[in-house]
Amino acid sequence: MAAQPISIGHFIHGRLQAGTSGRASDVYNPATGQVSARVDLASRAEVDAAVAAARAAFPAWAGTSPLRRARVMFKFKELIEKNHDHLAALITAQHGKVFTDAKGEVTRGLEVVEYACGIPELLKGEYTEQIATGVDGWTVRQPLGVCAGITPFNFPVMVPLWMLPMAIACGNTFILKPSERDPSASLFMAELLKQAGLPDGVFSVINGDKEAVDALLHHPQVDAISFVGSTPIAEYIYSTGCAKGKRVQALGGAKNHMVVMPDADLEQTVDALMGAAYGSAGERCMAISVAVAVGEAADPLVAALVPRVKALKVTQGMDLSAEMGPVVTAVHKEKVIGYINAGVTEGATLRVDGRGFTVPGHEQGFFLGGTLFDNVTPNMSIYREEIFGPVLCVVRVPDFASALQLVNSHEYGNGTAIFTRDGGTAREYATRVQVGMVGVNVPIPVPMAFHSFGGWKRSLFGDHHAHGPEGVRFYTRQKAITQRWPASIEAGAQFAMPTLK
Ligand code: NAD
Repeated sequence: MAAQPISIGHFIHGRLQAGTSGRASDVYNPATGQVSARVDLASRAEVDAAVAAARAAFPAWAGTSPLRRARVMFKFKELIEKNHDHLAALITAQHGKVFTDAKGEVTRGLEVVEYACGIPELLKGEYTEQIATGVDGWTVRQPLGVCAGITPFNFPVMVPLWMLPMAIACGNTFILKPSERDPSASLFMAELLKQAGLPDGVFSVINGDKEAVDALLHHPQVDAISFVGSTPIAEYIYSTGCAKGKRVQALGGAKNHMVVMPDADLEQTVDALMGAAYGSAGERCMAISVAVAVGEAADPLVAALVPRVKALKVTQGMDLSAEMGPVVTAVHKEKVIGYINAGVTEGATLRVDGRGFTVPGHEQGFFLGGTLFDNVTPNMSIYREEIFGPVLCVVRVPDFASALQLVNSHEYGNGTAIFTRDGGTAREYATRVQVGMVGVNVPIPVPMAFHSFGGWKRSLFGDHHAHGPEGVRFYTRQKAITQRWPASIEAGAQFAMPTLK
């Protein structure tokens, strides 16, 4: 008899609790296609309870010294390290990505926790003695209040960790609304934070869908929203949250190009493209989905890619030899197949077809093979739109100028890379490309935790990138204080604008 799906609730005021809305959604094991759990979808009342807990916890947490807050982060870091494999297995079980990739995801999230451990240094303000006679001035950065994070399915550990360590270390309380497709890792991190000594109410997890998101967006006691997900939702979150007077950062979708110059090392370029296009079944916002082959680079590149794509080891993610696992849901699989069909109809050359692919013993799993299109042109939907699957499009252009113009004309501007041996070409590309994160012979240039992550154009709405120094700025507001003491105060009211004396 098949095991009963487990029930996944919320984490509010320091404890796991079942949902009360009466609404729930299926969570799948993508490798088997089976429902493994049902996740409760929060109502407005449940969101209100989490916000009330966060609001009540805020004054004491904001008043806790940054060093004590950092000590909680140090313990959290130790607990993540201790539970690294468990967190990775939770990711693989609900997202489907291969275990080795999931471990890498946990590491990239952990790095933000390590960065947040330095919060006493990061929050240091600026001080000017004697800005006028007997007058001193300084600036401090103070927490915002209750912050919320709404995160996508594709990085169920790393993306929440872009947000919550920074928000909490800065003195805010934080409510996470993870993706309803893979919610378990967030609840596990909530338990780790509690074990690390975080007071109840400082961190909550609300599972849910649009209803929970809208309740957070419209709640007058929520001060800031961080969002990562697709562009239409990012735009909605940004415009609605801003209209409600909240501080909002909303990171959206992507179509990342790798420009391959004729002088690039072919073997290195193909290795890089394989990992960047097909790793995590292409379900990365920094995945390379377009290879821009410049001039004579094209024929050898495509010839080298075809056998490699055909040879991809696609199987369930806990098999340590797996290079690529399934995509996240049956619906998503159908969407990707729809794009492959469209590419054929629109006239692109299908060099490797990943449709109709099955893994023996996992026939119901949401697997696709790697797919490679050649002769893709900018008017095709497979070029314009984010597919978010294991589909690589090769666009052929005559020269560097055409490559740069192509990349700069795309509506997205998350990440990009150039492969070349020529320093001048690389420098020109990095300087002139209209994209937020650029790799030179680095296919997936995800910035480290002590730099910040963010795209340009319709890949990001808002003024701040995620984590790193930008994270500190986003989760704090600046206050400037000017002081003098009775001995330096001149007698008499002054009606002119104060100026330096
Ligand atoms: P999604 O936009 O469908 O969902 C993201 C979050 O928004 C989820 O928590 C979801 O519950 C919520 N949501 C979905 N529909 C909503 C609605 N109508 N109203 C309110 N909330 C809603 O994204 P996804 O499919 O989970 O993730 C994949 C997308 O995320 C891709 O477009 C990918 O490029 C993007 N992404 C971007 C980055 C980045 O840094 N720019 C990083 C990771 C993923």
